[in-house]
Amino acid sequence: MARFHPPVGILPTIFTYLQELYGVQPWWPADSAFEIIVGAVLTQNAAWTNVERAIERLKAADLLTLPAILAADPATLSEAIRPSGYYNVKTQRLLNLCVFLERQGGLDAFAQQLMESQRAGLLGVKGVGPETADDILLYAFDRPVFVIDTYTRRLLTRFELVQGAETYEELRLGFERELPADVELFKQFHALIVIHAKEACRKVPHCPRCALAAVCPTGRRCGQASST
Ligand code: SF4
Repeated sequence: MARFHPPVGILPTIFTYLQELYGVQPWWPADSAFEIIVGAVLTQNAAWTNVERAIERLKAADLLTLPAILAADPATLSEAIRPSGYYNVKTQRLLNLCVFLERQGGLDAFAQQLMESQRAGLLGVKGVGPETADDILLYAFDRPVFVIDTYTRRLLTRFELVQGAETYEELRLGFERELPADVELFKQFHALIVIHAKEACRKVPHCPRCALAAVCPTGRRCGQASST
């Protein structure tokens, strides 16, 4: 079975380089924990600008609370979140998640549960995968879980730290094993990986002007190729 055991120190090294490059990043932009939860569903397969438009429409329609969504006509809800794409699927996923949270006694009661119980519960909701569950746990409930996304996998691949068959759980646990269980660190590291993927480590990476090229095997290869 594939495993993720990065060399000791490499993840903190990557973090330090990214931190020096981009500085402190704003965390998940939202006015409430519930807005983060809704955003975590809407951001599935969607650009963040489109999620923001959907959130604004929910706010304008007074639909950004747990009771409001549960009481809403699904067609109205669906229309409000249309800008986020896949809006019929996401309507059902939002409703599934809201019914689950209501059954837990609401957000405040859910927040009191042990993290393992919260995570298992969220993963039992149809339409909530590990990335969505961990977005919710980290950003809405300040739980020390490391979020793995496409950008994280890309960076690990370029650093030759993974083979490609590693599961979400293997990667998450690898990060959590190698880093201190620090919520702010996890938020910042994730945000840095995202911005770096957009600025430099794109699908076609911009290695020649990347500040990580000295410590990144892909960047080093790129430098050797251009100097020969
Ligand atoms: S050197 Fe290239 S592959 Fe490595 S992190 Fe930078 S952009 Fe990505």
